[in-house]
Amino acid sequence: MDLKQNIMAVKEKIAAAAVRAGRDPAQITLCAATKVQTDDTIRAAIEAGLEVCGENRVQELCAHLEADAYAGAREVHFIGHLQTNKVNKVVGRVDLIQSVDSLRLLEAIEKQAEKLGIVQDILLEVNIAGELSKGGVAPEDVQDLAQAAVSMPHVRLRGLMAIPPVAHGPGANTQYFVKMRRLFVDTKDKIADNKNDMNCLSMGMSGDFEEAVAQGATLVRVGTALFGPRPPRPEQA
Ligand SMILES: *Cc1c(COP(=O)(O)O)cnc(C)c1O
Repeated sequence: MDLKQNIMAVKEKIAAAAVRAGRDPAQITLCAATKVQTDDTIRAAIEAGLEVCGENRVQELCAHLEADAYAGAREVHFIGHLQTNKVNKVVGRVDLIQSVDSLRLLEAIEKQAEKLGIVQDILLEVNIAGELSKGGVAPEDVQDLAQAAVSMPHVRLRGLMAIPPVAHGPGANTQYFVKMRRLFVDTKDKIADNKNDMNCLSMGMSGDFEEAVAQGATLVRVGTALFGPRPPRPEQA
């Protein structure tokens, strides 16, 4: 596996999908989903031109921060399920928390950010396909949670994120990407005092990031297409 070649290939596909959709490729950020990758792999990826890392477990985030594995990256994001009792390990240590899915979590983030005297950038995670097995706020509850977020002085709402079902074949998730795009535009319109901050629509993974770009994603989260298939987590092996 050639990391540098994979990164270039994914970037080229993003750019081509953007151009096909009449969009400026510079509007789309590639966030590498670095779960289960080692410190050295993350360092090599950054060296090879990767700019944004997304971590989905608190424990892995802390270990990589401790080892300074993200040195040279422009941004580090948290993209996984975040438990309220672990916010102090994440708030202020990442540039963007993509996965805020409850008022309780939002309030805990606000409290910790206030304590640190910072403003934490966040996205709201939407359960766009209504999957019972997944986290994320229901589409009809997004407006209320967004209002709550913009009323908090130490939280800055930057947009929405979604993890649709595993894509089985081309076009399978287009409907969800279209719905997310509408919800994003709607939410932005209804929150007048926050319009300029709302510039991030995070959707699309290895199997469908080009479709997501075609439907308006401004950030795609890609793991397998960059790093190859993931080995099972040690604790699951
Ligand atoms: C792992 C992960 C991805 C990337 O998945 P791939 O299919 O490997 O590209 C994207 N988003 C989240 C939240 C993830 O945990």
